[in-house]
Amino acid sequence: MSSYSPEPYKIKMVEPIRLISKEERIKKMEQAGYNPFLLRSEDVYIDLLTDSGTGAMSDRQWAGLMLGDESYAGSKNFYHLEQTVQELTGYQFVIPTHQGRGAEQVLFPQLVQKKGQAVLGNMHFDTTKAHIELNHAKAVNLVIDEAYDTSLYHPFKGNFDLDKLEFYIKKHGKEEIAFILITVTCNSAGGQPVSMHNIREVSKIGKANNIPVFFDAARFAENAYFIKKREPGYEHKSIHEIIREMFSYGDGLTMSAKKDGLVNIGGLLAIHKDKELFEQCRSLIVPLEGFPTYGGLAGRDMEALSIGLHEVVELDYLEHRIHQVQMLGNLLKNKGIPTQEPIGGHAVFIDAQKFLPHIPKHQYPAHALAVQLYIESGIRSVEIGSLLFGRDAKTNEDGLSPLELLRLTIPRRVYTDNHIRYIADGLIDLFQNREQIQGVAFTYEAKILRHFTSRFKLIETTSLKHVNQSPTTQV
Ligand SMILES: *Cc1c(COP(=O)(O)O)cnc(C)c1O
Repeated sequence: MSSYSPEPYKIKMVEPIRLISKEERIKKMEQAGYNPFLLRSEDVYIDLLTDSGTGAMSDRQWAGLMLGDESYAGSKNFYHLEQTVQELTGYQFVIPTHQGRGAEQVLFPQLVQKKGQAVLGNMHFDTTKAHIELNHAKAVNLVIDEAYDTSLYHPFKGNFDLDKLEFYIKKHGKEEIAFILITVTCNSAGGQPVSMHNIREVSKIGKANNIPVFFDAARFAENAYFIKKREPGYEHKSIHEIIREMFSYGDGLTMSAKKDGLVNIGGLLAIHKDKELFEQCRSLIVPLEGFPTYGGLAGRDMEALSIGLHEVVELDYLEHRIHQVQMLGNLLKNKGIPTQEPIGGHAVFIDAQKFLPHIPKHQYPAHALAVQLYIESGIRSVEIGSLLFGRDAKTNEDGLSPLELLRLTIPRRVYTDNHIRYIADGLIDLFQNREQIQGVAFTYEAKILRHFTSRFKLIETTSLKHVNQSPTTQV
């Protein structure tokens, strides 16, 4: 037997990509104000900005597009999707939405009963946090402390700290809590999974206190794969059985289908049994997203999503998916590049503070690394650190993120293992010449969501002081 595990698909259609010359890349990056978000994708060779909506559909999904029933009401594609989601999750009520945040904007107002209530999560995704705050609630992160230490191995770093959860409820009272949201995998903690044991215990705590428990289920299949591989008692269960058990502990879910739905756009809201809640959501879906049997999607999109949800739970798909991400992590670790441990499901995170100890936090080491990775290799990656974190609203203080990470997010079924080797080589070259990498400073700082539109210049790095990371928790 070969020790290679090749891609579990062959390629029927190709999209050419082009590596422009280094001189051109230097020019393009300068024109983009040293902000990879402002590059044109044509000028990018390998794009690791996100795994959201960037995956490749299968021939079956493309064939499904041709079967679109574009009736305003009662499209047959809706009924396919509804049945797929019911079988997959065990949830009775299904509403399509234009993407994950569409489901959030419909569900959250139903669950937040009064101003200032908390939504308790392992670690909330940023649009999720925004929708919680739009409903005048508070987004509270209760992930285990291990999640904040990038060098520590823990098989389920997305787990809730159950003591913190119980303590929070006891301290504030259950009336002060709108709902509990379990994000699988935990995107903001680096695509780290949540164990079945933890999900079960969180659900018990929710039930005991009469607090609803929901899933933010963007990467539910990747989470199930980790449970199968890492959690005793689950090695012989099928992915489908694991998913069914996982969702059995919740009252419903919101899902960005742009990740494990294997489609380029789409989302879902599903509710376990609560008919009244479903009916409330169904009334709100009409003005916000669309009629309940399409909710912001074309009939053909619902068909492609329904097929994608069948494909994503196939074991050979998940094996290759997770192994490809781990392969990148291992190639980097073998050369001493500091990565987050263990490697998550959808991305490799490089600890830029350790990679570039000479660049202080307020010169955004992970962003500086993203700039150079593009210039050297044409690869686009993204900072998850103090630039993204933003300034303190009151004191204007900057450099506040506990971690400075560079995220290399791997789109699904898009790049081959050869692309992965090329990405690793690009980073290894940079690591060998890392003292030459310069920090960045703003030439224009956007007021809100500054990482998307701000512009920068490269600066001479004068401070060679090593900046220690200081893991903090938010509760
Ligand atoms: C992507 C994502 C969302 C938001 O979904 P969109 O489809 O981008 O609106 C919410 N939660 C998590 C965990 C996500 O990864």
